[in-house]
Amino acid sequence: MSSPQPSESKTPRKYQLFIDGKWVDAESGKTFETPNPATGETLAEVAEADKADVDKAVVAARKAYEGKWGKMSARDRGRLLYKLSQLIEEHSQELAELETADNGKPIRESQYVDLPQVVENFEYFAGWATKIEGETIPVPGQMFNYTLREPLGVCGQIIPWNFPLLMAAWKLAPALAAGNTVVLKPAEQTPVGIMELGKLFQEAGFPDGVVNFLPGYGETAGAALAAHPGIDKIAFTGSTEVGKLIARAASDNLTKVSLELGGKAPNIIFADADIEQAVNGAMMGIYFNQGQVCCAGSRLFVAAEIKDQFLERLTEKSKNVKVGNPMDSGTHMGPQVSAEQLDRIKGYVDIARGEGATVLTGGEPPQLDEEFQKGYFFQPTIFGEVKNQMRVAQEEIFGPVVSAITFENEDDLLKQANETIYGLSAGIWTKDITRAHRFAKAIHAGTVWINTYNMFNAASPFGGFKQSGYGREMGRHALAMYTEVKSVWIDLSGKPIGWFGK
Ligand code: ADP
Repeated sequence: MSSPQPSESKTPRKYQLFIDGKWVDAESGKTFETPNPATGETLAEVAEADKADVDKAVVAARKAYEGKWGKMSARDRGRLLYKLSQLIEEHSQELAELETADNGKPIRESQYVDLPQVVENFEYFAGWATKIEGETIPVPGQMFNYTLREPLGVCGQIIPWNFPLLMAAWKLAPALAAGNTVVLKPAEQTPVGIMELGKLFQEAGFPDGVVNFLPGYGETAGAALAAHPGIDKIAFTGSTEVGKLIARAASDNLTKVSLELGGKAPNIIFADADIEQAVNGAMMGIYFNQGQVCCAGSRLFVAAEIKDQFLERLTEKSKNVKVGNPMDSGTHMGPQVSAEQLDRIKGYVDIARGEGATVLTGGEPPQLDEEFQKGYFFQPTIFGEVKNQMRVAQEEIFGPVVSAITFENEDDLLKQANETIYGLSAGIWTKDITRAHRFAKAIHAGTVWINTYNMFNAASPFGGFKQSGYGREMGRHALAMYTEVKSVWIDLSGKPIGWFGK
């Protein structure tokens, strides 16, 4: 593995598919290009998987499940996962640079957030491999009842482009700790880090076929994987729209499904909040990863009493956010991931204006040096005078664009905060401890942050209420999504069953 060099822009990297422990071309021979979103230049040329490759990978994953991997002890599985976590840590600088080159996120985020959390997840679930246990149940009579917690088998996993390696880690680590095998499709925008991860799986010594990585498009490779009769589960992170397609595709085979989907999180600033802390929290909520975060605090509810003061300070600080070369350690925001995403954001600025919102700052791409003029950059943007029923407050924009909404009192606030099809996360900024807990309970969301935002840990569950998805990733809850429970009954009486006569 090597870091991307400036001269590399002229010679794109090349990747094949990773199936059954081997690097192979797609059956069709097709490839696709993935650009560096900061410059628009081609970063890599990647084999393009389709249905035939999905079929091959599912067969390989089944063979591994029924063979070496299925027979391996939990301890050895855990040791392999731990070894992988160490290899990732050793290579984390190169991986962070590649992640930034492929996705556009600032290097300080890849380096200090994404990669450390990838390592943490593999390390955490390595420890779980030997701790997945059943129970004994106190049933009446001369009976003994116990449960076994078994792997599901072959898991399909489809991940998005916003945190490529981290989303892979959230899915791979619990699936493998529980003893499953995996066919994973990275997003077409960001396959590079995942293909490098394939090399580390090989180096760690995982048996062939335990993980198979198939870069390709959603409508082809992704759809083929979700509908495949040979998989036992499909796990997906991405848009709610595609999540519905996945659930439909899986329903023909009643394949088990877990979904981590969109959000439109309320980030609530009460009048008693520490203003400076809350302004920083609002910025963390919306500008982190250029706002391409499913739990982004994109609906900023501000108490009427402090609205002017708060928005003034937020606007002033937003103007100082450094947007530019993501490889520069001083950069706060890099480019959006793709031209499509940039267009989508610009479209929402027009929609906001049309709906009567005001643009307090931003609203357009920044002026940057020549080298970055083909990049997909956008300025930190605040919409003022937003009403909760406007499209910009109801639809996921997935950019550094926040809608500020004023509230008068707690009842008015709670009603609006929960008036959304989503329920992934929420933020609350207040010094009043009872109010903080009251709201944490009343908000319909899978994660609530109080006087903080975007906190994650491999041990803490993450997932959505309502149309934000099914299931929880990370923590012990993730293992429940990758295991089946089997109940076993044993008659201890030794007597024949007399129910239908002697
Ligand atoms: P976004 O809209 O943010 O690009 P998507 O939900 O479209 O996010 O994409 C997330 C992942 O889902 C990507 O890996 C993408 O290729 C995949 N995907 C998109 N469409 C489908 C589909 N119809 N079936 C399966 N996977 C899909």
